[in-house]
Amino acid sequence: MSVVVEDGAEFVRRAAAGILAARPVYAEVIGFYGELFAAQEETRPRVRIEPFRLLPEMVRVKRQGHLPLIQVEEMRFDPEAGRFLFEELCRIAVDHRTELSAPAQILRKRSAEAPALFRGFLDEDENRIQQAAADVGVETAALSFFLYHSLRPSISRCEQDLAGFVIDESSWEKGYCPVCGSQPALAQLDAEGRRFLFCSFCWHRWPAPRTACPFCGNGDPGHLAYLYSDEEQEHRLDLCDACRKYLKTIDARNLARPFYPPLEQVATLHLDLKAAESGYEPLLPGHRPA
Ligand SMILES: [Zn+2]
Ligand SMILES: [Zn+2]
Repeated sequence: MSVVVEDGAEFVRRAAAGILAARPVYAEVIGFYGELFAAQEETRPRVRIEPFRLLPEMVRVKRQGHLPLIQVEEMRFDPEAGRFLFEELCRIAVDHRTELSAPAQILRKRSAEAPALFRGFLDEDENRIQQAAADVGVETAALSFFLYHSLRPSISRCEQDLAGFVIDESSWEKGYCPVCGSQPALAQLDAEGRRFLFCSFCWHRWPAPRTACPFCGNGDPGHLAYLYSDEEQEHRLDLCDACRKYLKTIDARNLARPFYPPLEQVATLHLDLKAAESGYEPLLPGHRPA
């Protein structure tokens, strides 16, 4: 299911204000990411990509094999909208004086080079991105961060387009995205208590079994645990003792603010720390920045 909200930037700002009211300790993080996600939403209307035309036969074969519709490298993007956003996101990072400010200061002058790097990023051409980062003197992770976030409106448009081709999503039941094959970044329990997973790359939302680890498929209640606190009834940590991985869950039944998933993901870093302290592995070793 594609999750697109009307007037996305305004929605992001309301979601950010809601998080700040509940958890002032996140002021810096939300100040930065709130603006970053709002800028992405504002860029959405500029994005032009060639629509996907998938053959029904191919879609059916992929579905039967539980294969995602496309691979990440097949994502399409609008280089000009990406370049524009690259510069804008660098400006936001410089203004917010986060650890990304210094690389952003360098990269904002190089936005003309971004379109040539988008392809390398989607192709996971690590050598190319590493070389480009080294050439200008920034960390590879910082360059990847700005490339991914500049591409997000295009990725989102692809997801919106491809979501229409997903068939029998209710019986997909896999722990990876039916659109692009990436792993989940976050889970949600909706108002009826149904469980959904959000893709860490394209943010597609798909239904998932209520009691099974999406990473290893373990459904044995003896090896699944949950961590939550009374002060934070909208959050929960799902822990799997079979593979030692964890997933953060947002319980919409206890959420009083607008729900913008990528923002909730960054406003729950304390849960990542808690999981790490308890010996569970970071979400996705080597996964793309979200
Ligand atoms: Zn995806
Ligand atoms: Zn597991």
